[in-house]
Amino acid sequence: MTTVKEQKIEKLETKREYYQMIINGERVDSVSGETFTTYNPATGEPLAKVAKATTEDTDRAVEAARQAFEKGKWRRYPINKRSRVLNKIASIMRSRFNELVELEVLNSGKSLTAAQGQVNQSIEDFEFYAGAIVGHRGTVNNMPGGFFNYTQNEPVGVCAQIIPWNYPMMMAAWKIAPAIAVGCSVVIKPASLTPLTAIVLAEICHEAGVPEGVVNIVPGPGALIGDHLAEHPGVDKVAFTGSTPTGKDIMKKASQTLKRLTLELGGKSPNLVFEDADIDAAVDGSLFGIFYNTGQSCEARSRLYIHENVYDEFMEKFVAKTKKLTLGDPLSQSTHVGAIISRGQLEVIDGYVKSAIEEGATILHGGEEVKVEGFENGYWYAPTIITDVTPEMKVVKEEIFGPVVVVQKFTDEKAVIKEANNTEFGLGSAIWTKDQGRATRVANQIEAGIVMVNCPFSAFPGTPFGGYKQSGFGRELCIETLDLYTEQKSVISYYGSRPINPFGV
Ligand code: NAP
Ligand code: MG
Repeated sequence: MTTVKEQKIEKLETKREYYQMIINGERVDSVSGETFTTYNPATGEPLAKVAKATTEDTDRAVEAARQAFEKGKWRRYPINKRSRVLNKIASIMRSRFNELVELEVLNSGKSLTAAQGQVNQSIEDFEFYAGAIVGHRGTVNNMPGGFFNYTQNEPVGVCAQIIPWNYPMMMAAWKIAPAIAVGCSVVIKPASLTPLTAIVLAEICHEAGVPEGVVNIVPGPGALIGDHLAEHPGVDKVAFTGSTPTGKDIMKKASQTLKRLTLELGGKSPNLVFEDADIDAAVDGSLFGIFYNTGQSCEARSRLYIHENVYDEFMEKFVAKTKKLTLGDPLSQSTHVGAIISRGQLEVIDGYVKSAIEEGATILHGGEEVKVEGFENGYWYAPTIITDVTPEMKVVKEEIFGPVVVVQKFTDEKAVIKEANNTEFGLGSAIWTKDQGRATRVANQIEAGIVMVNCPFSAFPGTPFGGYKQSGFGRELCIETLDLYTEQKSVISYYGSRPINPFGV
């Protein structure tokens, strides 16, 4: 075992050859001395080495978070001071915007414009919670005469935050910002495929003045580190974003000590195009709805339902525009669709497409791995449109998590709502119609946490994001998220002049 090399956190280059973990305000190596390599999915080439956390490192991180919480420096800061630090995090991120975007692109293979939007939103998340926390107040409640009741929100404690690879920086921001806003300490477990921007964000938190031990980050294998955190008796809450099976596993483990839990899981979101829709807007929004972020989105609108009267017109335009999508250098402003995160994920996607062919579906466009010039060793998959599908097919039921959309024709509003809800998931959904009455009627019946009406976007800071059914529970990105990182304490007092003697003895 090598000794742990510790370094105070000062600004380092965003792009470097080796990234350490952060425990108790220090950059540290793994106690084992081990590292792992993280890659650029667009080229398949190694990008950097990362310290590989062990369970011992994780215990140290939880202990540091606990100490920071018990000592209470951060949680006892006046709210305005915590708010100022959150704004400072945002302003440092803004000043390093291009560096963060580049690192995000290199580590995830996503397109420049997608990364720009996501880093920008990550900045706004900190700004949003810097403001929201100021208004996160307790209540005073009606009581019989002589009694008085108030409530206060207290931080839940040490939070383990386990995040996926599809939005590496944004998911870190969604988790860290509300948790530290209320005064919690966090231990972040980034995805093994994309740990870099989350590590840099944790460094920026320190640079901005977050005290040691409040933000810790332990990159390492989910089955070991994530699992250890979910079971850890020193962890009070787990916030997890990832797949539904892992979420179920975490829920089971977290139940041992009744940890608080937020789960943002998978999806198979329906996208309904009615006959009275603005077809051009619906085409553009549906294109973005599935191919944004290379389809690697939990809220991807991957089930497209088109009314029979507009089916031909819609599909002609949809296919034509899909053909225009550019796969290319992810750092180019003109690239629309980036790389797939890994060879393994590409094979999962291709396996789904092959299963559709075997089950009798038609591949209208794409359906295969593609070579991109200059990026021949990267992982690229053609934007894929599948028709002639039935509700029982795997591609219709299961989350593919890639640039693949399944298209079905419908005739009747009631029936299509039923079909839209015929899924174990319930995260996103979209409705395209010019009829406000229909929009409201359908939105009311859709079983999903998010309904987009004539709108391609599913998330803005301040709007609740989260799922129904097996897409998880808890809402992130909104004011109410602060409640998920706090316990409500009710203080009941009596100020009457006559002493109370309930037993009367
Ligand atoms: P995943 O396997 O569930 O991984 C997510 C995170 O959990 C990663 O940090 C992973 O670590 C860790 N992990 C893996 N196994 C674990 C275990 N047994 N115990 C604790 N932690 C564990 O998901 P993924 O394959 O990376 O991501 C794709 C999935 O995430 C998709 O199904 C998608 O729907 C879902 N997702 C949902 C949302 C949402 O907001 N609802 C957002 C993004 C993604 P390693 O990286 O080391 O494996
Ligand atoms: Mg996984």
